[in-house]
Amino acid sequence: MLVDSHCHLDLLEREQMPIDEVVEEASAAGVDHMLCVSVSIERFGPMMRLIEPHAQISASVGVHPDGTDVHEPNEDELVALAGMDRVVAIGETGLDYYRVEGDTGWQRERFRRHIRAARACGKPLIVHTRQAKADTLRLLREEGAAEAGGVLHCFTEDWDMARQAMDLGFYISFSGIVTFRNATDLKDVARRMPADRLLVETDSPYLAPVPRRGKINRPAWVRHVAGHLAELRGESLESVAAVTTENFYTLFSCARRGRSAATTPM
Ligand SMILES: [Zn+2]
Ligand SMILES: [Zn+2]
Repeated sequence: MLVDSHCHLDLLEREQMPIDEVVEEASAAGVDHMLCVSVSIERFGPMMRLIEPHAQISASVGVHPDGTDVHEPNEDELVALAGMDRVVAIGETGLDYYRVEGDTGWQRERFRRHIRAARACGKPLIVHTRQAKADTLRLLREEGAAEAGGVLHCFTEDWDMARQAMDLGFYISFSGIVTFRNATDLKDVARRMPADRLLVETDSPYLAPVPRRGKINRPAWVRHVAGHLAELRGESLESVAAVTTENFYTLFSCARRGRSAATTPM
């Protein structure tokens, strides 16, 4: 039993991978729950319709920090959408200074609105951070993100950042990147992680893990991520699967277990 804590099934569909097949393949690999993460408000509606028939898929609502020329929801709008059935988190949000040139103030404003919305609706944050360590931590602190909690997804930063995020009550999620041979420092972070803060994800269709590197990623392959973490930590795949699944349902507390993803009103 495994959970893919972060995937983009609507983007997979665009890669000619029909959701029915993706979900079936995931089930066959023991992945019985997936969190489909929103990247824009424009895409949110179609994404919700896509996942609707599949009870084992939860969703989030938010605007990716890389998104430009997209609708900027205010706090109330995010809170309203977060109240929809199956929506268990706010995101993905955060800061990504890698892809942006010039002024980055708009990213910080967007991130702040998402943190406020998460606090207002009591749902955790899915945080994307790239080349923005200091500002990410600063904004999480300034906006009181510890109250909502959340996860730093697709973690690629150092131990110091992991530790500071965990001090704020955040979880750390590892993707296929941790399986890459040259990810030496990240493997070290994975070894040091306390088990009760650990999550696994694919971020599919991106970042396929070894031994599928370069292919279109899919939730079934979260198994390779968990398997690699198990190897690094000297644990069994079963124990990494069990602990990351428990952590998932602790953090995303309104996700229903396994294949009954309907949420209870909060
Ligand atoms: Zn991301
Ligand atoms: Zn993502």
